[in-house]
Amino acid sequence: MLKAISKPLLHSVSELCFPTLCISCAEPSQGFLCAHCRENIELIDLSTRCPICFIEQEGLCFACKKRKAAPRAAVCEGYGPARSLVAHLSESKIQKNIGSLMLVQLCRLPWPLPDILLPVSMGGDDATGIARQVSSFIAKEVSCCIKTSKYSIDEGLLKKERFSLKKTCNLSDKNCLVVTVHALNEEQRSSLSDLLVETDPKGIYFLSFISSNF
Ligand SMILES: [Zn+2]
Ligand SMILES: [Zn+2]
Repeated sequence: MLKAISKPLLHSVSELCFPTLCISCAEPSQGFLCAHCRENIELIDLSTRCPICFIEQEGLCFACKKRKAAPRAAVCEGYGPARSLVAHLSESKIQKNIGSLMLVQLCRLPWPLPDILLPVSMGGDDATGIARQVSSFIAKEVSCCIKTSKYSIDEGLLKKERFSLKKTCNLSDKNCLVVTVHALNEEQRSSLSDLLVETDPKGIYFLSFISSNF
């Protein structure tokens, strides 16, 4: 009897002490996002973006017609509920949700299914958890073989990332999906592409959850 009533009681007490609030708008909510904020998470419409560099333009942009670059895409713009999800990235249930949204966007892209997922964690963003979530749906390998380190330019305060690959990393003939939380900037993508190309992959693709850089 006591056991039967203790559970609902404990639940209501915990609700009283720790009411569940939406992480985005702070309104009372059943889950970590309220129904309104859940509905407000919009996946970026791919038809409005250049299929290579992802700038806002329908079809291939002028620059991408002339150059050869690894395609990139993102899932959401960096505001509203999507931004709130990123702020709570350390929680596994949030990683699960971000991973699901990334998978939905990945399936809408005309890219081949990746053979390997390469999370790149930068600026405090841990991309490994979300890469693992995506891989749990498509049963592909996740490899944390990309290491990032920072170096100063001209001994100044401005720091840049330097990427390196673990020696054990084998990307030969694989379609590689680089997974990040925020988008890498053009310089970062190009230096990482140059590094990955040395391992002779089949293809290189960049997918970030948030469309903008930090
Ligand atoms: Zn809300
Ligand atoms: Zn372009």
